[in-house]
Amino acid sequence: DELMRRADAAMYEAKTTGRDMARFYSAETDQRALARQTLEQHLRRALEREEFSLHYQPRVDARSGELLSMEALVRWRHPTLGMVAPGEFIPLAEATGLIVRIGEIVIDKACAQLAAWREAGVALVPVSINVSPKQFLRGGVQRQLSAALVKHRVPASLIEVEITESAMMGDQDDILAELAALRALGVKLHVDDFGTGYSSLSQLQRLKMDVLKVDRAFTTELANSKEGKVFFQAIVSMAHALGMSVVAEGVETEEQLAILRHLDCNEVQGYYIARPMPAQEMAVV
Ligand code: C2E
Ligand code: MG
Ligand code: MG
Repeated sequence: DELMRRADAAMYEAKTTGRDMARFYSAETDQRALARQTLEQHLRRALEREEFSLHYQPRVDARSGELLSMEALVRWRHPTLGMVAPGEFIPLAEATGLIVRIGEIVIDKACAQLAAWREAGVALVPVSINVSPKQFLRGGVQRQLSAALVKHRVPASLIEVEITESAMMGDQDDILAELAALRALGVKLHVDDFGTGYSSLSQLQRLKMDVLKVDRAFTTELANSKEGKVFFQAIVSMAHALGMSVVAEGVETEEQLAILRHLDCNEVQGYYIARPMPAQEMAVV
C-alpha cells in the first residue's frame, strides 16, 4: 500500500508540474503535496470569502506617454498569509480547475470597475485581462465575458484579452474557437510573454492577434548587449509588417525607454512608468 501511495504521489507531482515528465518519490514529495493541499484549501475558502481584488498597471504610448490602456492583475490577500503572489497560486488554480471561478471573478471585477469609473466621470481606457487556457474549455471566457459586459453595461471595445504565447500552442481547437468568438464580440487579443514560447509570428498573424507583448526578459537585454537590441528590432519590424502593434513589458529604466522609442516600439509598460496599483490610485493618474 505504501509503495502504491508513494508512486501515486510522484505521479501527481509529475502531472501538476507540467505533464510529459517523470518524478521520483522522496520525503519532500509528501511535504510539497501537503503544502499544495493547504494552499488549495485556502484558495477554495478565498473564493467563498471573496479575498481577491484587482490591481491595474498603465500601458502608455512609448513616445507621448499617453495612457492607452491598463492591465488588470489579480491580487489575493489571505487573512493570515497576507498577499500571495499570482506566480504562487495561479499554477495551482490551473491544476485544480479553480482558475475558471477566479477568472470569472476577474472578468466581473474588471467590468464593474469600468462601470464605476464611468459613473465617476473618469475618461475610460480599455482594461486587459489575463486568461489561462483552462478557462477556454467549452467557451467559458466568451460566455462569462458576454454576461459581465451586459450586466455592467460596458462595451466590448473596453475589454482586451491577454493569452500567453505558450498557452496558444497546446490543444488548439478549443482555443482557436474561443479566440474567434472573442474577436467577433469586438474584443482585442494580445499575445502575452511573447518570446518565451515557440510560436511563429506568421502563426500569430493567422490567429489574427492584435497586439504582441514582448516578454520582460527581452526588455532587460536591451541595454545589456547588442544582440538584445537586434532581437527586439527584429520582433518589432516583423510584427509591424504583419499588422500587429508591439508592447514592451517590464520597462524599468529611462535607458530602456529611450532604446524602445528608437526601435519604434509602440507601447510600454513597467515599473519605470508605474507599478500595478489599486483602482482608487489609478483614477488620479
Ligand atoms: P503578466 O500578465 O505578464 O503580467 C506582468 C507581470 O509583471 C505582473 O506580475 C506585473 O506586476 C509584473 N511587472 C510589471 N512591470 C514590471 C517591471 O517593470 N519589472 C518587473 N520585475 N515586473 C513587472 P504579477 O502581477 O505578479 O503577475 C504575474 C503573472 O500572473 C502575470 O504575468 C499573469 O501571467 C498572471 N496573472 C496575473 N493576474 C492574472 C489573472 O487575473 N488571471 C490569470 N489567468 N493570470 C493572471
Ligand atoms: Mg499579462
Ligand atoms: Mg507578460
